[in-house]
Amino acid sequence: MLKVLFIASECTPFAKTGGLGDVVESLPIALRERKIDARVIIPKYNNIPAEYKKEMIHKRTFTVPVAWRQEYGGLEVLKHEGITYYFLDNEKYFKRDGLYGYFDEAERFAYFCRGVLECLPYLDFKPDILHCHDWHTGLIPLFLKAFYQEQPFYQNIKTVFTIHNLKYQGVFPMEILGDLLGLDDSYRGDEGIEFYGKVNCMKAGIVYADKVTTVSETYAEEIKTVYFGENLDGILRKQEGKLQGILNGIDCQKYNPETDPHIYVKYRHSLVKKDENKVKLQEDLHLPVKDVPVLAMVSRLTRQKGLDLLLHILEELLTLDVQLVVLGTGEHNYEQALREAAERHPQKMKAYFMFNEALAHKIYAGSDLYLMPSLFEPCGLSQLIALRYGALPIVRETGGLKDTIISYNEQTGVGNGFSFTNFNAHDFLHTIKRALDFYHNRKPLWNKLFKNALKANFSWTSSAQKYIKLYEDLLTGQKEGNISTNTGFRLFKKG
Ligand code: ADP
Repeated sequence: MLKVLFIASECTPFAKTGGLGDVVESLPIALRERKIDARVIIPKYNNIPAEYKKEMIHKRTFTVPVAWRQEYGGLEVLKHEGITYYFLDNEKYFKRDGLYGYFDEAERFAYFCRGVLECLPYLDFKPDILHCHDWHTGLIPLFLKAFYQEQPFYQNIKTVFTIHNLKYQGVFPMEILGDLLGLDDSYRGDEGIEFYGKVNCMKAGIVYADKVTTVSETYAEEIKTVYFGENLDGILRKQEGKLQGILNGIDCQKYNPETDPHIYVKYRHSLVKKDENKVKLQEDLHLPVKDVPVLAMVSRLTRQKGLDLLLHILEELLTLDVQLVVLGTGEHNYEQALREAAERHPQKMKAYFMFNEALAHKIYAGSDLYLMPSLFEPCGLSQLIALRYGALPIVRETGGLKDTIISYNEQTGVGNGFSFTNFNAHDFLHTIKRALDFYHNRKPLWNKLFKNALKANFSWTSSAQKYIKLYEDLLTGQKEGNISTNTGFRLFKKG
């Protein structure tokens, strides 16, 4: 049985700030259903709900080298819904509120990466593949080469690095190279970990992993361009032979309006029952209960998500016969602007600034249109969740949004939402108005679109197969001794 260890900084239901948490939960489940022994390791954060913490079993204590430091490592294990989860325990680094944003982020995740590699022999499970996710785990492929490849236990282990969002790279001063990573200057340079005189953990993952993936085909192309490449486009073009886009799926059991325990009224193909959810949502949020299109957004409040477009047209939008509900956390200026707008229009708009899974589900179920005018979007899960609940996405054509949402074409009757091309606020408003026209004046077509949305299938079925093929190709290449990825120089950069 092929063995894959997922290594990430978040995984639902233990710790989540965005789509990464969903993927690290749902992809291993999908792999497991296809007879892959997939397991997961994340840091043991303080915020993991107590119900899970108390079920964890302490498996082993060991020492983790963080350059010259010797740090405590605790390995905890928990079996949850058929998947084995491991947690790396160190209270100095992880017994804090929240997941990210601390002054010593470099040290915390350098520790995590070393700790994961150190604990592999104690898992009772020798992975064939280490599947690393985003910059927090980018050092793992590098550390594996630098510190472990001489040890027989580690020799045949392959690495896959998945970019969920190229924007966040884990860039730190060059001093950490020796002081935290324990690496010498041979790892510097364009072909190493160096990035404009600094250390870049995302780049480490891209350069040193055996295979690199990202979460949609369009994003895989976009990130090789200057506009989307976040200054790593050059290195991605160089490494393009080992880069592949594989679209994320969603867990269709968890996001299922037929069984969802969070929503007010369960439904399948019934707009009437969906409307009952809308009424309850309006009641709960103290919005006037009436037949009006409810527009929604459940999102991190960052520039990426197109908040600038929304804010630019907000006053104009709220002159229309609509209600708007926003749930999100993020940048203060966006929260402030949304809060003020909601205060100005209490009969039309509500905004909540917290992370609340149950409310998110209620909003997906109770809304008609889901807004996602992203500046860029590696994959995006929210639009897929919205489809699942029959809320029609209005998206900008970028990254995974382009790969998943087909703008309704009246000639062919094909489409599961509405989209616009340019990052332009009035194009966004115009597209919203187009959608509202269907809602108000063309009910049969609206009903058809609702059905199209529910029919869309973004389960993991096809993407899980693609990952399995990728893992198998990596391992077969290894047996035949002909890894075809262009990682030649890496082999000469051993520490
Ligand atoms: P990203 O990973 O860039 O944040 P995605 O669309 O891929 O965006 O995934 C976002 C996930 O996080 C979705 O499951 C969405 O419902 C959820 N989410 C975002 N903000 C909140 C919030 N404030 N409360 C609850 N869920 C949220």
